[in-house]
Amino acid sequence: MEPFAPLRISGCVADSIVDGPGLRFTVFVQGCPHHCPGCHNPQTHDFQGGHFVDPQAVIDAVLQDPLASGVTFSGGEPFCQAKPLRQIGQAIAAQGKDIVIYTGYTLEQLLEEGKKDPEILALLSLADLLVDGPYLQEQRDLTLQFRGSANQRLLSRKQIQEAIKAYRKTNLK
Ligand code: SF4
Repeated sequence: MEPFAPLRISGCVADSIVDGPGLRFTVFVQGCPHHCPGCHNPQTHDFQGGHFVDPQAVIDAVLQDPLASGVTFSGGEPFCQAKPLRQIGQAIAAQGKDIVIYTGYTLEQLLEEGKKDPEILALLSLADLLVDGPYLQEQRDLTLQFRGSANQRLLSRKQIQEAIKAYRKTNLK
């Protein structure tokens, strides 16, 4: 079995109803390069902060929670730790639970970043729902479901897979 890559987190929350559909186990990763003004989780920005966690313990916590629909990767910036989250996500998806990912990057930026790091595309391809884009204070809207500002999109698995397919087709020419 592939050894787990190290994962640095800020913390975890069980039974969340605000981080995607159903009851969710949310992992707040540590480290974020975006520094959105007005961010609600500034304690997650420092890449040297938080603490390391055993990825297998995260998998076990999600799978042993019978009420959890799945796992949400939030932050911090999940795509800065794409490998361990891909490993965790694969193990959880294999047991039929779903994956929600929050990111300060847009989907289009992630596709570009994926050229440098294939783990980014591998993690992206696991998402059942992606909430993309930075938090923009001037577009803050408390009525939006699962997100804080109107620029952020809720992208379905189908939309993500189509974008990956189109990107690969164009970039393989
Ligand atoms: S991407 Fe998220 S965690 Fe990072 S600064 Fe923006 S709102 Fe905060």
